[in-house]
Amino acid sequence: MKHIILITLFFLHIFMAFSQSDSLPYVIVLGVAQDGGYPHIGCQRQCCKLSWKNVEMRRHVVSLALVDPAEKKWWLFEATPDINEQLHLFSTLTQNAYSYLPQGIFITHAHIGHYTGLMELGREAMGAKEIPVYTLPRMAAFLKNNGPWGQLVQLKNIELKILNTDSILSLTPQIDIIPFTVPHRDEYSETAGFYIFTKNKKYVFIPDIDKWSKFEKNILTVVKNVDIAFLDATFCNAGELPNRNMEEVPHPFVIETMTLFEKENIEVKKKIHFIHFNHTNPILWDEGQRQQIIQAGFNIAIQGAMYK
Ligand SMILES: [Zn+2]
Ligand SMILES: [Zn+2]
Ligand SMILES: [Zn+2]
Repeated sequence: MKHIILITLFFLHIFMAFSQSDSLPYVIVLGVAQDGGYPHIGCQRQCCKLSWKNVEMRRHVVSLALVDPAEKKWWLFEATPDINEQLHLFSTLTQNAYSYLPQGIFITHAHIGHYTGLMELGREAMGAKEIPVYTLPRMAAFLKNNGPWGQLVQLKNIELKILNTDSILSLTPQIDIIPFTVPHRDEYSETAGFYIFTKNKKYVFIPDIDKWSKFEKNILTVVKNVDIAFLDATFCNAGELPNRNMEEVPHPFVIETMTLFEKENIEVKKKIHFIHFNHTNPILWDEGQRQQIIQAGFNIAIQGAMYK
């Protein structure tokens, strides 16, 4: 009898552990490429040749889905030119368990890879109803005051929600978002990065940034304070940009980020998940380059993968 009780308790314990982990929030990567996508318009060079031929190699522009299974809700980070494919990818990966459109969209800045997918929500396409779009103030003003984005606001396809830098927005009892500003070419908007703090894991998302030295936060501390850091990896090294001085390129090269974290232990290094790859970045198309980064202890964000 005692045995039966013990066995029952054991299975109950396993069952509870499983059902609890099933209700914990998670992130799915819906795209890993830089704004121009992969393959890149007009590129016939070695980098894109492979993916023009092989559809499997193609990658969507950088984007994340944040999911709270307990609330049956999800949020999209970035409205990319590939939003069409990405919403479809999300519903396929989650077996249509969630609403087709997210409960809200968070946008980092006004460069084409990060916000132009909003056009698909307008009357010409989806005709969405009051989808909350979360941005910092300058980005919100840009959308409101410029066509065709202003029409989405007027026709209530989207509803602008202005975020305050460094303040907490609670999405659900299990999820808090904290936006912050990062240095970047801010022609039309400021540029945001996001902390995503869930009951389970802490994430940071910085797809576009100028050099780490210009960032008001210390990237070493930022990475140490989270579990998973999706960081700008537009270019791998200076070789991709012949005749350009490395110091002048307004992104941290992957090798620069790796050098910065060189002395940290493996637990810290493996938190870094490189993302936002330019088509010239061999991380997209050279397995040797990928292995080199992984062997050094770092991670590469994978389109379609779940981070939990
Ligand atoms: Zn970008
Ligand atoms: Zn290319
Ligand atoms: Zn940008």
